[in-house]
Amino acid sequence: MKTANFHALRRAVTEASTASKWKTGVLEWEVTSVAEHPTGEGECVCGQTNLLWLYTITNTHNGAELFPIGSTCVNHFERTDLNRQIAVFRKLVHIRSAAREGRQIALTTEYFSRAVLDYLYDVGAFTPDQYNENDGWNDWEFLRKMFGVRDKTEISPKRQWKIRKILDQKAVPFVINDDRLGD
Ligand SMILES: [Zn+2]
Repeated sequence: MKTANFHALRRAVTEASTASKWKTGVLEWEVTSVAEHPTGEGECVCGQTNLLWLYTITNTHNGAELFPIGSTCVNHFERTDLNRQIAVFRKLVHIRSAAREGRQIALTTEYFSRAVLDYLYDVGAFTPDQYNENDGWNDWEFLRKMFGVRDKTEISPKRQWKIRKILDQKAVPFVINDDRLGD
C-alpha cells in the first residue's frame, strides 16, 4: 500500500488539509461529486492512470477541493462513509443513464440501496406535497419500507402506484438534474 502513488496522494491531501498529519487530515474530507471520463483515461492526483470515474473530494474545514481522485485513493482514507458515498454516486449515475435511455426505474437493488434513499432525502429530492403531508420524510420512510419488501409482487397496487409516482416525479428527475454527477 505504501507505493509512490500513495505518497503522492498523502502529500496532496495533507497539503490541502487543516491538520498537518495524514491520519487526522483524512477526517476533514467528503466525496462531493463524480464525473465520467469520456475515454477512461483520467489521471488521479496520485498519478494513477486510466480512470473512468473521477471523484471530487471537498475539505469540510477550509473548502479546498481535490480533483480528480480515483476510488482506490478514496479507499486509502479508510473511511466507511466515504466508500459508501462512492457506491451511492455509482448507483445514481446508473439511474441517470438508464433514465436517459428511457428505461423505467424500479425500486430494486439494481438502482437503489438504503444509502441511495438516504442521500435523496438528505439532498431534498423528496419535496413536500399534499401526498406526503408536506414532509419529504414520509416519502423517504415509505420507500425505505417498500425497498425492504423482498417479494415486490406482494406490494398492493395502491402502494405500487405510490412508489411509481415518487420515483417518476421526484427521485428520477432529481437524479437526472443532479449536478454532482457531472455531464
Ligand atoms: Zn489516486
